[in-house]
Amino acid sequence: MSPDDKRSSVEKYRLKQQIQHLKNKSSFNQSTSLVTLYIPPGTQLSDIANLLREEYGTAANIKDKNTGKAVQAAIQSILGRLKLLHNTENGLVIFCGQTEDGMEFHAIKPPEPVTIKQYVCDNIFHTEHLEDMLEEKDAYGLVVIDRGGATFAVVRGNHLEIVHDKDSFVPSKHRQGGQSAQRFERGLELMANEWFNRMAELANKIFLETHPVKGIIVGGPAMGKEQFVNSLRLDYRIKKMIIGTEDVGYTGIQGIKELLEKAAPKLQELRYIEEKKLVQEFLTHLAKDDGKATYGEKEVKEALLAAAADVVLVSEAVDHYEVTVECQACGHSFKETVKASEIIEYEIKLKERKCPKCGEQRLEIVEKIDLVEQLDEMAQQTGARVEIISTDHDEGKMLMDAFGGIAAILRYDFRG
Ligand SMILES: [Zn+2]
Repeated sequence: MSPDDKRSSVEKYRLKQQIQHLKNKSSFNQSTSLVTLYIPPGTQLSDIANLLREEYGTAANIKDKNTGKAVQAAIQSILGRLKLLHNTENGLVIFCGQTEDGMEFHAIKPPEPVTIKQYVCDNIFHTEHLEDMLEEKDAYGLVVIDRGGATFAVVRGNHLEIVHDKDSFVPSKHRQGGQSAQRFERGLELMANEWFNRMAELANKIFLETHPVKGIIVGGPAMGKEQFVNSLRLDYRIKKMIIGTEDVGYTGIQGIKELLEKAAPKLQELRYIEEKKLVQEFLTHLAKDDGKATYGEKEVKEALLAAAADVVLVSEAVDHYEVTVECQACGHSFKETVKASEIIEYEIKLKERKCPKCGEQRLEIVEKIDLVEQLDEMAQQTGARVEIISTDHDEGKMLMDAFGGIAAILRYDFRG
């Protein structure tokens, strides 16, 4: 993993959270007044301002006057802030409008270039394009092969590219007149063998040179795929990349589509393999008791401060704020950890709580720190990295249930 990849684990997690937040919002009276704005890189924001002014005028014609006003309010709010923003190398995505829970304004720098210019008013925010950017972008090779033909494809996220689609030169098994059955069969076998060898060489060229991939899945009816996989001409690096074979009833593009469907769970699994390995590494150190594993928020932070942590594992399910509460009467302050989902309830209850020092009911939150962000900042200072671990697999669930969702693999035993 490159340092950029390490960094993006947290950034992607942040963006995922922000998207989740936006997806839970709907307009305050189900009116179509929430504005979504996708701005491609290179677009002048002054042009966007012009577009918004036009839309502002159009909104005056909306039949439902309340909706019209709400749209205008959102547009005005964007226009007011547009001067403070600048377009980025990946473009800009803006969400703005009056929701059931109040006014929302988000200007997001997307992780990948925005490819559409879009202005939408709806009763929800449109986060789909941003969500697409978060999808797995590793490339995998797909091969469907039998005696009759071979098709090579590369799948990347939702995108499928057919690289090569070739009919074979091996005649079908209908014997032509005049030849002995035995001779015909032998000739057929030789030709088939040559066919699979040639396709093995083509696979070497495609997946090692022109279309490098992370893994390859081979499909085909019955024997064909085995003959291909076992071909002596198939490069050992390609053989190592083959992560599975599947029975597929068709060949050609139809076969690739069938293979893709069958391979989908395997590809999903691959995304999790790295995460699972990390949790397993942590568990191994813990079992060996070699001092190279620790868990719990306090312990992991200590390890980070001691520059002893190498990889910090944080469960996606750990979503905490560390709040600093201050008494407005005596100035006494203390810190508490609150689940993000319970923060509103916490704030309400805080108003009824008494200051542990002076007993007054004047406690207020003066600072709210996001735990994941905080760990990430601490990690960066000592060259450690934070990996967000999904709860979609057993190791991820274990990290959450057995270790509270925060653990670290250490560089050395610092217990002293
Ligand atoms: Zn007090």
